[in-house]
Amino acid sequence: MKKIKQSWAEPYKIKMVELLKMTTASQRQKAMKEAGYNTFLLKSEDVYIDLLTDSGTSAMSDRQWAGMMMGDEAYAGSRNFYHLEEVVKNIYGYKYLIPTHQGRGAENILSKILIKKGDIIPGNMYFTTTRLHQELAGGKFEDIIIDEAHDPENEFPFKGNVDLNKLEKLVKKYGAEKIPYVSIATSVNMAGGQPISIKNLKELRAFTKKHGIRIIHDMTRVAENAYFIQQREKGFEKKSIAAIVKEICSYTDGATMSAKKDALVNIGGFLAVNDWDVFEEARNMVVVYEGLHTYGGLAGRDMEAMAIGIGESVSDEHIKARVGQVIYLGEKMIGYDVPIVKPIGGHGIFVDAKKFLPHIPQENFPAQTLASEIYLDSGVRTMERGVVSAGRKANGENYFPKLELVRFTIPRRVYTQAHMDVIAESAARVYDRRNKIRGMKMIYEPKYLRFFQARFEKL
Ligand SMILES: *Cc1c(COP(=O)(O)O)cnc(C)c1O
Repeated sequence: MKKIKQSWAEPYKIKMVELLKMTTASQRQKAMKEAGYNTFLLKSEDVYIDLLTDSGTSAMSDRQWAGMMMGDEAYAGSRNFYHLEEVVKNIYGYKYLIPTHQGRGAENILSKILIKKGDIIPGNMYFTTTRLHQELAGGKFEDIIIDEAHDPENEFPFKGNVDLNKLEKLVKKYGAEKIPYVSIATSVNMAGGQPISIKNLKELRAFTKKHGIRIIHDMTRVAENAYFIQQREKGFEKKSIAAIVKEICSYTDGATMSAKKDALVNIGGFLAVNDWDVFEEARNMVVVYEGLHTYGGLAGRDMEAMAIGIGESVSDEHIKARVGQVIYLGEKMIGYDVPIVKPIGGHGIFVDAKKFLPHIPQENFPAQTLASEIYLDSGVRTMERGVVSAGRKANGENYFPKLELVRFTIPRRVYTQAHMDVIAESAARVYDRRNKIRGMKMIYEPKYLRFFQARFEKL
C-alpha cells in the first residue's frame, strides 16, 4: 500500500473573520507611488495580504481575549504583572522580570546598563533595533555568526550558530573586559529565521564562562528555534518544545523579548535577567523610560494576554502548524523556481533579490524594488531586508550586506493555506517578468532606521 502523507493542520478553528479590501492594479499603482515605493508607507487598508512583519500581527486566542477582560489596571502591583512574572519564571526560567512596551524598550535599558563607551558586543548577526541601541550606548557590534549564514544557498541546518573562532579572535584582540556580553538571537531574523543549535549554545556557554562574559538572549522567536532543534538536532526528537525552550534559556544570563512575535500578542515585551544587580538597575531605569516596574508601559490587560500567549506559544501542536505553514509557502515558491533562502526559516520566506534581479546593482536597491513589484502585482505587502535596512556606518558609508532579501513574513494564526497559494503565485508571476524590472533611487533618507521612512523613485 502506498504510504499516505500526514499533513499538518491548524490546532484551532475560526470564530471571527476580518474582511479584506480588494484593490485593482491601478489603485495599487497610485498607492505605491504615494508611498514612495516603500511598503512601510502604504496604508494597511490598501493591502490584501499583509506580510510586512510577524510583529504584533498575530491573532489572539479566545483565552487571550478573555484574559484581556481580566485586566487589573491598578497603577502599581497589578495582578497581571505577577501572573506574567510567574509565567516567565516557569516557562523560560529567568528569575527577574521587567515588562517593557516592546522589545526595543528592553534593548534600550539593557544596553544602557551593560555597555560602556568603546565596548564590543559580538552577536550572531545584527538586528536593526538591537544594534542601534548597542551603538547609542557607545558600543560596537561585531558579527560572529558562522559564514554559512551569509550564503542564501547553503543548506546547513543551524545557520544561526556562532563561530567560536571569530569570538575568540575578538576576545584576544580587545580583551574579555571590553565585551560586556555576547548578544545571541534564537531564530536569527536577518539570516532568514535560522536556528542556533543546543550544541553550539553549550559550547558558547563554556567559552564565555571561562572568560567571564555574559550571554544575553534575544528570545523574540525562541519557540520557533526550539521547533527546528526538535526536528533537526540529534537527541531532541522526543523532547517537547517547552522543554527545549527552557533548556535554551538555561544557557544564557538574561533576555530581551519582543512579545509581539512568538508570544502571540499585539503589543508587549520584557527584559528578564538572573543577576540581581542588573535587575535592580533595570527596575530603576524602567521608571524613566517605560513606566513603573510592575507595568513597564503596558496595560494590565496586555500583560495578561502576554502571560497566556507565552503558554500557547510553547505548545507542540501550535508550533508545528505555525512553521508548517511557512514551509508550505516556501516549498510552493521553490516549485515555481523563485530563489529563496534555504533552509526555509521559522517565521517567513526570504526571497533572494540578488538572484531574482541580477541585473539591478545593490546601490539601486533590488530588494526594495522587488517588494514594491510584488505589491503592484497582487496587493501582497512584503518588506526589504537588504541595503536599505542595513543603513549606514558611523562614518556615513552604506553597509552593503551580502544578503539582499525580500521578507514574506507570516503572521501567526492569521492567514489560510489558500492565501499561501495566492502569495506564491504572485511571486512566480513577478519572476516571469523579472527582466523588465528596473531599479530605484532613494530620494529621502531619514537618519535612524531609514528603511521605515525612506522614499524612492523608479529609475
Ligand atoms: C522585532 C525584534 C526586535 C525588536 O522588538 P520590537 O518589539 O519591535 O521593539 C528585536 N529583535 C528581534 C530579533 C526582533 O525580531
